[in-house]
Amino acid sequence: MTDVQTLLDAAIATTDPWRGDDGFDVLDPATDEVIRSVLSATPEQARQAADAAQVALGSWAGSTPRSRAEILRRTFEIMEAESESIARVIVAENGKSLVDARNETHYAADFFRWYSEEAVRLSGTLGHSPSGGNRILTTHKPIGVAVLVTPWNFPAAMATRKIAPALAAGCTVVLKPASETPLTALVIAEVLRRAGVPDGVVHVLPSRRSGPLVGELLAHPAVRKLSFTGSTEVGKVLLRQAADRVVNASMELGGNAPFVVLPGADIEAAVDGAMIAKMRNGGQACTAANRFIVHESVASDFVDLFSAAMGSLTMGPGVDERSQLGPVINRKAQQEMQALVDQAVASGGRTRLGGSVPGGAGSFYPATVVADVPGDAPVLQEEIFGPIAPVSVFDSVDEAVRLANSTEVGLAGYVYAGDLAQGLAVAERLEVGMVGLNRGAVSDPAAPFGGVKESGLGREGAQEGILEYTEVQMIATQW
Ligand code: NAP
Ligand code: MG
Repeated sequence: MTDVQTLLDAAIATTDPWRGDDGFDVLDPATDEVIRSVLSATPEQARQAADAAQVALGSWAGSTPRSRAEILRRTFEIMEAESESIARVIVAENGKSLVDARNETHYAADFFRWYSEEAVRLSGTLGHSPSGGNRILTTHKPIGVAVLVTPWNFPAAMATRKIAPALAAGCTVVLKPASETPLTALVIAEVLRRAGVPDGVVHVLPSRRSGPLVGELLAHPAVRKLSFTGSTEVGKVLLRQAADRVVNASMELGGNAPFVVLPGADIEAAVDGAMIAKMRNGGQACTAANRFIVHESVASDFVDLFSAAMGSLTMGPGVDERSQLGPVINRKAQQEMQALVDQAVASGGRTRLGGSVPGGAGSFYPATVVADVPGDAPVLQEEIFGPIAPVSVFDSVDEAVRLANSTEVGLAGYVYAGDLAQGLAVAERLEVGMVGLNRGAVSDPAAPFGGVKESGLGREGAQEGILEYTEVQMIATQW
């Protein structure tokens, strides 16, 4: 294993030729201190990266699926071998606990393993014309140069969930990581380089000029794909830009997950699931349970047990092995947490746990439970993105479904049910792309990840994930 500083030195050195005078500081949210300074790429450098990706595209797309698969497999193995150092880079720039960072690193590495397996399994079809006149052959071709834009909350997994399928399909990529967390993405690029990815195939460009830089990339004639993970607001801006050249777009956007506890559910299991669904990554997940919708017959038990579990978490710098809850991403997010709690209370909610900004260094916010939040409270339309759990009560299943679906987004949802058939029936009625049924986690490399409504377009992971980086070509012939 390479130690963290050496790994960072190597990763940052790969961008030195691009660097010029212009860099920006990456901060540790647990201490507010500078970790490193990195390149802030210009739109001109982005264009050059896209040029290089275009040059590399021919031979990468033309390489055998097996050779791409073997490079991806090696990437997985190197990432696993370096996982502890990578986890520590994630902790440093993102703030999450070491446990969360280790889990993320393994999850992220798994996309390289999964797509090393998928790379050799892309096949087409042979069909017959109904009139009997011709045969119809289809194949999946690499779509072209892909632009990847990722958020700060899972700096490793959001990058690998895009890079791995893109490379497996035969695409070359230019990735712009979030400005809060560029270091992890640079380390992943270094791992790919060590695994033998040829020059020009993968470019990672940190930048403080995300708008102009991504705009330049989308205008580049070789770019045929945009895969974005981030807020719905920015996703809409990029969809409009992608329209100018009819660039194919995959969008993984914001969520506002309902967590429905039905009458008859096992309350202890529901609380265990709630802790995962709410608190993985300190609540800073697009899949995070955002609205707890609990049947009146179990609401008071649920709130008591859940508040006790939330209250037992140790908050502190992620690098401390005892910490279970790190800081939120920055000071602005810390202030937003307080505003959301105040809003929930103004609507009639009662703070059962937490609810105020602690003093001292770092952007910490405590685990917070607000009970009795009315189902129509405005705060329930906000994506919380932090360790705050508003709980609302329902009296009929129809009411629970109505509340669960009463938002413009639809990424994940959770249902806890004693009766599996009832749970499945409610799961089917949720307007979301992914449901955890008696489970607090939905993410898996083998699962198609994505949302409906304003949560996005397309899917990542599973076989669906590689298809996003391909175009179907059809050949009609006869014999
Ligand atoms: P964000 O502000 O939308 O930023 C995401 C990425 O877009 C960053 O790399 C950012 O760069 C870049 N960006 C910002 N403005 C841009 C513009 N005008 N043009 C081009 N790029 C631009 O989101 P975030 O605050 O990092 O992440 C939180 C959001 O991501 C939440 O809404 C969350 O739900 C969503 N998310 C969704 C999923 C999913 O799979 N559905 C997964 C994780 C997170 P800079 O950092 O340089 O601004
Ligand atoms: Mg942002």
